[in-house]
Amino acid sequence: MTYIDFHTHHLPTEPDVVAVVDGRDTWGLHPWRAGEGWPASVPDLSARLAIGECGLDALRGPSMQAQLEVFRRQVRLSETLGKPLIVHCVKAIDLLLQVHRELCPSVPWLLHGFRGKPQQLRSLLAAGMYVGFGHRHNAESLRLCPLARLMPETDDDPMHPIREIYNNVALAQGISVPQLCTAMDENYHAFFKKEPPRG
Ligand SMILES: [Zn+2]
Repeated sequence: MTYIDFHTHHLPTEPDVVAVVDGRDTWGLHPWRAGEGWPASVPDLSARLAIGECGLDALRGPSMQAQLEVFRRQVRLSETLGKPLIVHCVKAIDLLLQVHRELCPSVPWLLHGFRGKPQQLRSLLAAGMYVGFGHRHNAESLRLCPLARLMPETDDDPMHPIREIYNNVALAQGISVPQLCTAMDENYHAFFKKEPPRG
C-alpha cells in the first residue's frame, strides 16, 4: 500500500509514501513571487511531473495583474509541454475559473489546498478540475468530492502526516484506507499520465 501525497514542500521520510514534491517534481513560480517577473531562462523540465505551484492569491503577493500575467505564462507552458498544472488559489476562485474558461486548457489542473464550500467545489468540478484536500478543509466539501477528482496532500504542514490525511479522507468518503490508496493510484495515473513510483 502506498500513500501518495499529491502536493508537499517536504521530502518524504517513510518508504511507503510517494510524494509530489514542490520544486523537485514540479517547476513553477508561486504567486507570492510573481513580482520577481518571469525568469530569463526556464530549466529543462522534461523530468518534471507538472508545472506549479502557480496561481492567484488575493491576500498575499504582488498586484493581481502581475500575478495573472505570470500565471497565464505558466498555463501556456503547461500546455506546450503537455504537463498538468498545480494551482494555488486564495480568494480568487472566480478569477481562476475565468482564466480556465479563457485559455481552455487540455491538461488537467489540480487546485491544491482547497478549503472552500460545496458551492465552490461544484464550480471547480464542473470545470473539470482536480481538488486537493489537506488538514484544513471544509468537511462537507470533502464528503461530497468525487473520489476520482480528489487528491490528499500535506502541503507545508509537517504536523499532519499524509497517513493522517488519508484516515480523514477515507472516513469522510465512507471507504477504507486501502480502497482510498487504490483510488489515488488511479488518480495519479489519470493526472500525470504515469504509473506512481513504487517505494
Ligand atoms: Zn504548496
